[in-house]
Amino acid sequence: MSPADADAFPAPRYAVFGQPVSHSLSPAIHAAFARQQAIALRYEAIEAAPEAFADALARFAEGGGRGANVTLPLKQAAVDLCATLGDSARRAGAVNTLVRDGAGWRGENTDGRGLVRDLTERAGLDLRARRTLLIGAGGAARGVAPALLDAGIGDLYIVNRTGARADALADALGEPGRVHSRYLDDIGALGEFELIVHATSAGRGAPPPALPRALLAPRAAVVDLNYGEAAVPFLAWARASGAHDAIDGLGMLVEQAAESFALWHGVRPETDTVYAELRARQNLLVTAD
Ligand code: NAP
Repeated sequence: MSPADADAFPAPRYAVFGQPVSHSLSPAIHAAFARQQAIALRYEAIEAAPEAFADALARFAEGGGRGANVTLPLKQAAVDLCATLGDSARRAGAVNTLVRDGAGWRGENTDGRGLVRDLTERAGLDLRARRTLLIGAGGAARGVAPALLDAGIGDLYIVNRTGARADALADALGEPGRVHSRYLDDIGALGEFELIVHATSAGRGAPPPALPRALLAPRAAVVDLNYGEAAVPFLAWARASGAHDAIDGLGMLVEQAAESFALWHGVRPETDTVYAELRARQNLLVTAD
């Protein structure tokens, strides 16, 4: 295509919305998938405060935006901006993927499928019947909880700094015999867990919640949805506490992106190469400090 043709037929626009979003690896991941699949697209990071998100998304649609990812703290707010919701987003009450559908947005949530795929296929974990602790009740926790239940975990305990949000998530999941919300302060009395998922954003600023070692059952897997520097404190606690597996959120990030890519372009990209490249880059950055 000549430069003149490229101006006349610009590549379709995609984006990730969040605040902060400048650190996001999503533009690099989607650019790599697009090269792999020989699909022309532009994918940018758009910073949007919660109060400015609706206008920013409307401008993006007017400018030809075909699809977007949504990251913190906008995943729950995105639900109200959708004309329709797919099953994953409806169950989560949170949206991480927007697909332009006629005149409106269809909301989807690929976080849960991405996490389960990373844990079962990349890390080789059998999640079935694992007594599970989910720490956090924001957009990410909402995205992963339904998929973990579908993957066959045992009882799910949800704790969150703001207890009411843990209650709301437990209610929304609609399985009172299996899903329980508890106060963060009571965490020491909850017994042992075979799977612990850290889904707060605390690692980015304040230290993550201080947790007792006794939470870990023998051979427990501990997962932090954060990656890079933000995952270091929680995974250091996990290893020091004897976790059998300590897994960060980099694999989930790549897998949820692949699921979004499939929704937009109809083809699921191969993820191992992109994951290996990002892992090598992250290792360099984390060990360089
Ligand atoms: P969010 O909707 O803003 O929710 C933030 C959560 O963190 C809430 O549960 C909040 O508790 C809790 N929190 C924040 N600061 C805390 C602190 N100092 N102590 C205890 N709890 C604290 O964000 P989100 O979308 O759920 O994202 C959460 C994290 O997951 C982010 O760091 C994000 O990067 C990561 N994530 C990773 C992936 C991936 O693909 N790997 C995907 C999604 C998200 P309150 O309710 O009390 O405020």
